[in-house]
Amino acid sequence: MIERILVLAPHTDDGELGCGGTIARFIEEGKDVHHAAFSTARTSVSPEFPDNILEIEVRAATKVLGIPKEKLIIFDYPVRHFPEYRQAILDDLIKLREEIKPDLIFVPSLNDVHQDHQVIAAEGLRAFKRHTILGYEEPWNNIVFETRNFIPLDKRHIEKKIEALRCYKSQQRRKYLSEEFIWSLARTRGTQIEGGYAEAFEVLRWIY
Ligand SMILES: [Zn+2]
Repeated sequence: MIERILVLAPHTDDGELGCGGTIARFIEEGKDVHHAAFSTARTSVSPEFPDNILEIEVRAATKVLGIPKEKLIIFDYPVRHFPEYRQAILDDLIKLREEIKPDLIFVPSLNDVHQDHQVIAAEGLRAFKRHTILGYEEPWNNIVFETRNFIPLDKRHIEKKIEALRCYKSQQRRKYLSEEFIWSLARTRGTQIEGGYAEAFEVLRWIY
């Protein structure tokens, strides 16, 4: 039985992008969802915004999804430099494992090409050795992605995901925040299982 979930997001919007619909469904089902973001990318924020804008935005976005504020954990590793902090990140992951004791962990795909995403996926797999781990997709960072696990969703879950992503006003220039893209990916993953909407995941480890 899965009751406690931990979403590991390298940067503030990765969790909502990779599994925002699933988070909305889990919250609706009364599950205990924790969300850890490892960087607020202060150095890559556009000058018209304050440098802590992504922290403000992730607080708003996770609130929309229904994650209680005490279950949002924000670290401040420097964006694009995670490989230099692998051991510190692993230590933080082990602390999260001991404090939260999750049954299911979401990480970026092991096939993600972004260096920060690679560190969270690889160190997540090491830190949570006795746990079930699913890898989420971000197609703009994936050359290959194996759709091995599907979480069926309703329209309202995708609407929540989009509402959460709208909180990232500083990132609206990003193509992957297009509502059309988010609907079409959810429809594509749903169609693969002859359903309506879904999010798909790689199975990094499954323990039952
Ligand atoms: Zn990212």
